[in-house]
Amino acid sequence: MKITSATFLTSSPDLELCPDSVLQEFAFIGRSNVGKSSLLNLLAGRKDLAKVSSTPGATRLINFFLMNKDWMLVDLPGYGYAKVRKESRAEFQKAVSDYLSQREQLRCVFVLIDSRLTPQAIDLEFCDWLATGSIPFVLIFTKTDKSKATKVKANVELFLDALKERVEGEPRYFMSSTKTGKGRSEILGFVEQVLKA
Ligand code: GDP
Repeated sequence: MKITSATFLTSSPDLELCPDSVLQEFAFIGRSNVGKSSLLNLLAGRKDLAKVSSTPGATRLINFFLMNKDWMLVDLPGYGYAKVRKESRAEFQKAVSDYLSQREQLRCVFVLIDSRLTPQAIDLEFCDWLATGSIPFVLIFTKTDKSKATKVKANVELFLDALKERVEGEPRYFMSSTKTGKGRSEILGFVEQVLKA
């Protein structure tokens, strides 16, 4: 799929204030620093798309981007913030879990996993939570240019194996690198496929 337009639409602090729209939504989530902003920029073909999401305050909002005037890219707050106060952490986790479990327009969640790391409990738990709620998700292993291909492959296999112990079936997955552009056409191709389904 060619991206012809990508524009920031709005930010929402909770499910209730999410935009009133019938467009299909694709959400992106992962631990902070996993490479989410870089990947969103790569997908949009813009250097600064996700800039708004990383401005102070906006990191805890649900950010909506209108793509090709046809679908919505949704940037969800990262999980695993140690710095956030416990109460506000609970608040934004509620916003995210409400969005993920109740948003009718949501077609798929892309869960970003750092390909340099061995399986992290927080990522496995999150995937487990999605699967338990029958929320469709796909994995994206990020920063694949940063380690040797053999290490990336080993980490992917370890993650899928660990997930197998918790979740039925194997999720679809993609590999990405914002340095080489790897994964862009595959991920957008997948979105296109779901949009047409
Ligand atoms: P976010 O906190 O998840 O939005 O992560 P960012 O997109 O800000 O990325 C965190 C850091 O990792 C930044 O310094 C990026 O330049 C770097 N980074 C992200 N993706 C890649 C990648 O695919 N390859 C390389 N080499 N660096 C990356």
